[in-house]
This record gives sequence, C-alpha cells and structure tokens, in this order.
Amino acid sequence: MTIVFKVSDNIKAKMINHYQKAAKSTKPPYAVFQANDADTVITLYESGKVMFQGLSADIDAQIWLEMERRINNRIIDINQKKEPKPNSKPSWYLDSTIGSDEVGTGDYFGPIVVSAAYVSAENTKKLITLGVCDSKLLTDEQIKKIAPQLMQIIPYTSFVLDNPSYNQMYEQVANLNKIKAILHNKALLSLLNKADFTYQKIVVDQFVYPQKYFAHLADTTQIVRNITFETKAESRYLSVAAASIISRYLFLKALSDLSREIKVNLPLGAGTLVDQVAKEIFQKHGLAGLSKIAKLNFKNTYRVTEK
Ligand code: MN
Repeated sequence: MTIVFKVSDNIKAKMINHYQKAAKSTKPPYAVFQANDADTVITLYESGKVMFQGLSADIDAQIWLEMERRINNRIIDINQKKEPKPNSKPSWYLDSTIGSDEVGTGDYFGPIVVSAAYVSAENTKKLITLGVCDSKLLTDEQIKKIAPQLMQIIPYTSFVLDNPSYNQMYEQVANLNKIKAILHNKALLSLLNKADFTYQKIVVDQFVYPQKYFAHLADTTQIVRNITFETKAESRYLSVAAASIISRYLFLKALSDLSREIKVNLPLGAGTLVDQVAKEIFQKHGLAGLSKIAKLNFKNTYRVTEK
C-alpha cells in the first residue's frame, strides 16, 4: 500500500521529530528523510510530498491527516486516485475494546505508569469528541485537559510504580520488559475484575513478542491470556489511546510532585539536560537521593556518578 500527499510546513518538523528514532542513515534523492517505522517506510521529499509505503501505511498516514485536520483545518482526500479500500476505517472507531499502555519507560526521572482502559462502542463518539487520539499527537496541556474528563467517563485502572519500588524491582528482575509485562498484566487483571465488560479484543501496545511477554509472566499466578498484541495500537484502538492518555497524565502529575518535593524542575527524557539536573541532585543528595526520583539502571546514572 502506498499513500502520498503534500504536507503543510508547520507539520513537517513534527513529522521529522516523530520518526527521528526510526530514521535511516541513507535517503533517496530529493528526500529530506526516510524512516522505517515498524511496517511502514516514510519518505518526506523536499517538495513537501510525503510517501507512506507498507502494510500499515494507512495507519501512519492517518496520524498526519488527522493532524492536518486539527491544526490546519485541512481535509486531505487521499482516496482520489486510488481503488476503494474495503476496510479504511480504523477498527477502534466502532469496537468495544480493552487496551493497555505504559508511560515513563524512556524517562530517567519519575515513575512508570501502566493503565488499562475499557472503551465501549457506545462511548467511542464521546471520546473522539473529547479529543482522545494517539497521545503522541497531544501536548502536555491537552493531556491535562482531556485526561480528567476521560477518567470520569470510562472504567480504567492504573499502576504507578514509584522510583524506589522500580529500583528495587529492577535489582531483582534486571529486565525492563519483564517489569512492563508484570504491570500490564496487573492493570488488565484489576480492570477485568471491576465488571463483566463486553468487548471484542484486549489489546496491548506491543513492546515485546507475545511468547516473550508470557515467558516474563512465568512466575505469575493469574495471567490475562486472550490478548492481541499490536504495534502502533494507540492509533488503532481508542482504548489503548485512552490508557496512554491516562498514564501520561498520571506520569506528569507524579513528576511535578517529585519536582516540588525536591525543589528542582525534573525534565522529561534521558538526554543532556537530564544529566545536568541529575548531577546537581547527586551532588546534593547522593545516590540515595537519586534513587527516590530516578531509574537507576539508566546509563545516565553512570554518566552522573562517575568520579
Ligand atoms: Mn506504548
């Protein structure tokens, strides 16, 4: 599948940023960048045209078409010169699903938050009107506005693994994906225990192969097994999008609470600014202080505590 359209100037930078991690080191002639993200190859050309190729080209394209609509009020019809697609609507528009997603695994400071959410078919319209979508398309301000309302509408459960608990768990487990699997399973279990939901699928935003996911849960007694694992599930299922928004909201809240306690603004991510702030905290409070607010297994710890 190939989808091409011209992208507005104010979206280009967002697009480059979004696919940064998946960018290829080489690019075809006249291209600004080319990225290979899961099942899709994305090429942005100097002319402003962007091309999505591959099995999930429509899913990737949809992110940006939606952003053109939201930011520029631009409706782009990509079906003009193409044969009709039988299944062009993302399934989550219509289905009742349960989804889970985690936040904070790429951030040195702050907890890991995993949420599971139930979105019934009847609630989908309400959520779309509220602005629920792939949380990567939302600013922190938008998240703070949408999440509290969302949490009133849908059933959900969240687990916040604070830094001391994370660091203790990591010492035993030494595997981030195992920690994620345990938390996803917990969140799904406790949501399923809340009520007898009617749903088509339970979807986990895939971070590891299914076999590996269940291997990580080998020591766990109660396991949710009827799971569909999908990459980019946030843009395919409203329940995963909702879980992601709630997780992000709780993460931001926790990070600002920690910032207030330690009287330092703790930045997101794991880059050089994070190193700077971490160094200050290490000098003042030592490793013990760092262990209360940071994920010690990250490389940042070695960089910061080096003599
Ligand atoms: Mn995810």
